[in-house]
Order: sequence, then C-alpha cells, then structure tokens
Amino acid sequence: MHKSKEDVAKLFAEKLGTDPRLTPEQLTLVARRTLREKYMQAEVGITGANFVIADVGAIAVTENEGNGRLSCAWPKTHIVVTGIEKLIPSLTDLALFWPLLATYGTGQRITVYNTIVTGPRQPGETDGPEEMYVILLDNGRTNILANEKTRESLYCIRCGACLNACPVYKNIGGHTYATPYSGPIGSVITPHLKNMDEWKHLSYASSLCGNCTEVCAVKINLHELLLENRHESVEEGDSPFTERMAWKVWKQAMLHRSYMNMGSSTMKNWVVNKFLIDWKKHRGDIEFPKKSFNQIWKEKYGSR
Ligand code: SF4
Repeated sequence: MHKSKEDVAKLFAEKLGTDPRLTPEQLTLVARRTLREKYMQAEVGITGANFVIADVGAIAVTENEGNGRLSCAWPKTHIVVTGIEKLIPSLTDLALFWPLLATYGTGQRITVYNTIVTGPRQPGETDGPEEMYVILLDNGRTNILANEKTRESLYCIRCGACLNACPVYKNIGGHTYATPYSGPIGSVITPHLKNMDEWKHLSYASSLCGNCTEVCAVKINLHELLLENRHESVEEGDSPFTERMAWKVWKQAMLHRSYMNMGSSTMKNWVVNKFLIDWKKHRGDIEFPKKSFNQIWKEKYGSR
C-alpha cells in the first residue's frame, strides 16, 4: 500500500529479473504466475479467520485477492491462527457481519472472496487439505475481557475504517506503530496485549479528535479508550518521576494565583526550558508572555 507502482516494478526487476517498465497489469500477472507456483508446492497453508462460527464449527475468511483461498485449498495442511474474539454464535450472523466488514473496510457491498471452511477434505471430495488445525489465540485478550472499561475493544471486526479516518495514522503510516495492530484500535489494544509500560506511548499519539469513534463500524468509543489507557498507565505508576513532579508543580500553580504570578517571564522561560527535557525533545522552547493574564486584567479593570 505504501509503495508506488514504480517501486514495485523496481523491486520485481531486482528480485525476479523483470523489465522495470512493466505496467500495473503486467506486474499483477508476474505476481500471479510467481506465487501460483509457490502455492502449488507448499506443504502448509496458514491463514487467519475473520470470523469463527460456533454453531457449524467453521471459519470464515474474507479477502479481495484470493490468496487466502489458495492457502486453505491447495496445501496438504491448513493451519488457521485467529484471536478468540473472532467467535460469532451462528452462520446466520454473517448476513450482518460480512456486509458490515466490506462496507466499512473498502466501501464495497460485499468483499470479492468470502470463504467458509468447515474442515479438511472429506471422503469423496476432490479438493481441500488433508488436515486442518485451528489455533485460538488468547495473547492478552482475556486481560481485555476482564477489564470492564476496555472490554468493548474486543467488538472490533478489523475493518480498518478507524485507521483510514485517523489523522495520525494517515501521516505516519502503519509501520511506525511497530505492532501488528496499528491505528486507533491498535493504540487501544496493544498496551493490553503486550504491556502497558512499554506500549503506553501509542495511546498518547492521538489528537483525541474522535474521528475514529465516529466512523467505527461497531461503535467502539475509541478516543475515550485512549484516554482510559493513559489513565491506567498513570495509575499503574508507569509515568516517569520527572513527569509526575511536573504535574504536581503544575497543579499547585493552577490552584494558587500567587504562585503563577511569582518571578519574571525570563525566569519562567529559563526554568521550564531547562527542566522539561522530555517535552522539548520534539518541540521548540516555551516562551511565557511578558505580562501574566492576571497583570493584564488588573491594569485594565483594577483589582476586580
Ligand atoms: S475499531 Fe471499529 S473502525 Fe476500527 S477496525 Fe475495529 S471495527 Fe473497524
């Protein structure tokens, strides 16, 4: 997604020896020819599952390319790796979830390939793998389930609408998150799936504009959950000592006008710019105005 067609043509030329001036259609044909061969030779095909259907014991895979279908049909063994939150009660629920996923993901009414797999090849059938395994991943998901506030993030159907609407994601791209789940939903769940201390920064990388919440297919309160993560990380004591002290000082200053009025703007500039080292890593100097709001008010209206 983040490579231009020229980038792809160059990469193909380097790796596959093709002409670097190929058109997108020609590149697609090269990819198809090269990959088909690999699918046919593979012993094992690994896919995810968009949904796991409880009543019929099946998995549902949704895609626009057909590679998922090739992975589950051609190799001898099909392995499915999927999160436990993908479970839906019944086959009839797909009537809601398939169009929801397609519309919010890519604006299609229905995705190009929708496959339901109920198991390996049965006697008398000509296609399909000899064996099929479904691996249900927890990987921290039950932590999210146990947390009453963040539980709703498990409703996510991974449509990607919140990513496309997010001004941060649109500027920095998915790789920058350095985690499988990027964008707003990734920032909400990653600190719980991995650990808060190491991944809390993702919840801070947000303007809290609320675009994500507005577009979410299943109405998850994403921007509020980002705030909740920040709250939890502070409660758990994950913030550095200097930050905690800075907020304490700030609180006292906000509660006492006399503290706010203390010292000249030159002195305040010096203190703040000297000690807010982390804050200043990616920002310019803070400059206090010559006169405080309180002084301006007094000059204009007296001591009212
Ligand atoms: S959080 Fe909502 S919008 Fe984002 S991927 Fe999940 S379902 Fe789609």
